[in-house]
Amino acid sequence: MPYYNNSVEEKYPQIIEYFRSGIYDERKSIGHCLLLWGGDITAQCEIALEIARMLNCKNNGEMDCDCQNCRWIREQTHPAVKIYTRLDFKEASSSSDDEESSTGKKNITVEQARAIISELAVSSDYHRVYIFCDRDEDGNLLPINKINFPEVTSNALLKTFEEPPKNTTFIFLTKDKTDVISTIVSRAQSFFIPSFCKEDNNFDIVESLISNYWTFSKNDVLSFEEKLLDLISENDAVLVLTQLQNYMVSILSQNFDNKVLFNKIMQDLKYVEDAKRQVSLTPAMNIQTVCENLSFKLFLS
Ligand SMILES: [Zn+2]
Repeated sequence: MPYYNNSVEEKYPQIIEYFRSGIYDERKSIGHCLLLWGGDITAQCEIALEIARMLNCKNNGEMDCDCQNCRWIREQTHPAVKIYTRLDFKEASSSSDDEESSTGKKNITVEQARAIISELAVSSDYHRVYIFCDRDEDGNLLPINKINFPEVTSNALLKTFEEPPKNTTFIFLTKDKTDVISTIVSRAQSFFIPSFCKEDNNFDIVESLISNYWTFSKNDVLSFEEKLLDLISENDAVLVLTQLQNYMVSILSQNFDNKVLFNKIMQDLKYVEDAKRQVSLTPAMNIQTVCENLSFKLFLS
């Protein structure tokens, strides 16, 4: 079981709890199109599989449940829970025309989309979960983007995403919402999944600026903005913003029990992500405007 482990509930308690209460709520209040985004695709896949498990469990979705559905999902052999990538899909007819070469497919094809649609036309006793992502030849999970999940494929599935058959959920795993075509984003419920990867969690440049920032008063917003601009004038803007996120993630991982702080920081992570996108746009937004907007969001919202 390469992608699954039980720590997902410990790492993302709020997110898992959100889905658990949605799934066990009588109104089944979770959407049938979910978009998970952030830097850690493996963690997203674990969360997606956990959602699939809760949707299919014959008991009450307890983490250690040993019903057949739960077991199948842990072993990744469940007949109705599928991780779809451009690579692990059996083509109906092998020598097809488009976008294929001897070295392998570049993307999830329209043919795959049609196969999904005809598969869904047959009713199922299970809750079907389709997890869309990518992987390399070594099996490492990668995010979907507009190349491996192109617009023609999305369009072929758009109606299905909009009105899927009963008991069907689609989950998209991606790095950034802008990597997915907007017609899907607008139909999906989006969730930012912070990365707890250890490799790049440094925040030494920003530490003195951001330390305990949630305790600052609103009057500190201008001096915060000024210091942030100073840091960005001396360092790469994306690096500074990434370090702000690293700091926030480190606080998150120590404060799973503090719901108010946890929710604030989850929101703030998105604000910083927006700022990062704005500075990497071409043409980039004025850096001062980006810092000003970000500072106000962090302290006044
Ligand atoms: Zn179960």
